[in-house]
Amino acid sequence: MDIADTHAEAGRLDALCRYDVLDTPPEESFDRITRLARTALQTPIALVSLVDRDRQWFKSRQGLSVPETPRDISFCAHAVQRDEPLIVRDALADPRFRDNPLVLGAPGVRFYMGVPLRTHDGHNIGTLCAIDQRPRKPSPGQVMVMQDLARLVMDELELRQLATTDSLTGAETRRSFMHHAQQALAQAQRYRRELSCIMLDVDHFKAVNDRHGHATGDLVLRVIVSACRSVLRSGDCLGRLGGEEFAILLPETPPEAALATAERLRGLIEATTIPTGPGPVMVTASFGVATMAPIDETADTLLAAADAALYEAKATGRNRVADAWGQQVPGNKRLQQ
Ligand code: GH3
Ligand code: MG
Ligand code: MG
Repeated sequence: MDIADTHAEAGRLDALCRYDVLDTPPEESFDRITRLARTALQTPIALVSLVDRDRQWFKSRQGLSVPETPRDISFCAHAVQRDEPLIVRDALADPRFRDNPLVLGAPGVRFYMGVPLRTHDGHNIGTLCAIDQRPRKPSPGQVMVMQDLARLVMDELELRQLATTDSLTGAETRRSFMHHAQQALAQAQRYRRELSCIMLDVDHFKAVNDRHGHATGDLVLRVIVSACRSVLRSGDCLGRLGGEEFAILLPETPPEAALATAERLRGLIEATTIPTGPGPVMVTASFGVATMAPIDETADTLLAAADAALYEAKATGRNRVADAWGQQVPGNKRLQQ
């Protein structure tokens, strides 16, 4: 890669990162689009593929069981280099792809059509693609449908970026929470007030999904958010940082009060029974608590301190609260400054 290409690739990866979508669970709004693509193209496989640094990862997949493949054998990595759809009518007859392991082995790609997913600022972050195990020639109408569907994928991704609340739980989105945190921190510093942060992560949540299904997992997240709301004050801000991880900002709250709030939340979640068809489900969560240091604190460092404490709570057995100052700065220096 020459310097211009390296620069363009770095911009492309930055753009991909902005959407906060890599390694998130499947979602109906994208699955709907791949189902439509599969029907319109009459192919067994349709994917929303995001081209990351070393891999292509599938936000949505129909007809394929693997969640990702290496980038160096990816058809989509070729497609993101172009502004037009990449159509490979027969991979075995195409020198670029005929030796590709995805052609010679599973899933036996012969036909590939990938439409770049283009951001508003001109980066191709992945593709909407359709794949068949036999040679194909798509009609102009089918190509147009795929181009429209690819635009719908991008519309969905862009809308999420504008959203300030998470559609599943009603908590603030990560982006909105971080914005809030920066403002709260600046205010607390200016007026010399305290600001605490609680970070929480549901324990063994993967097992909840595996045992009870994704829909029950979703319900658990909603119940946890409403449990948090029942304990928090109106000025507190609750954000979903990702998956099953949440953060809470507590303005004008000293460390002891933040710890007590976290402990109340922990107890409440532990005691909550979530009713589901086959029977009640119970979960626990681990908590990390940090309070803004008087100097040199940024929203990022405050969250990092809470995150380190959360890590401690996980490492020491889960379903518990740990604080940042206890283990980060010996002798409670953080409090004494
Ligand atoms: P730990 O106690 O160490 O936190 O274990 P864990 O299983 O909670 O953590 P891990 O990070 O291994 O798994 C998190 C799981 O959360 C994996 C992912 O599929 C699931 N998840 C993330 N977002 C959602 C969602 O919106 N809904 C559902 N149902 N599951 C989700
Ligand atoms: Mg977890
Ligand atoms: Mg987690």
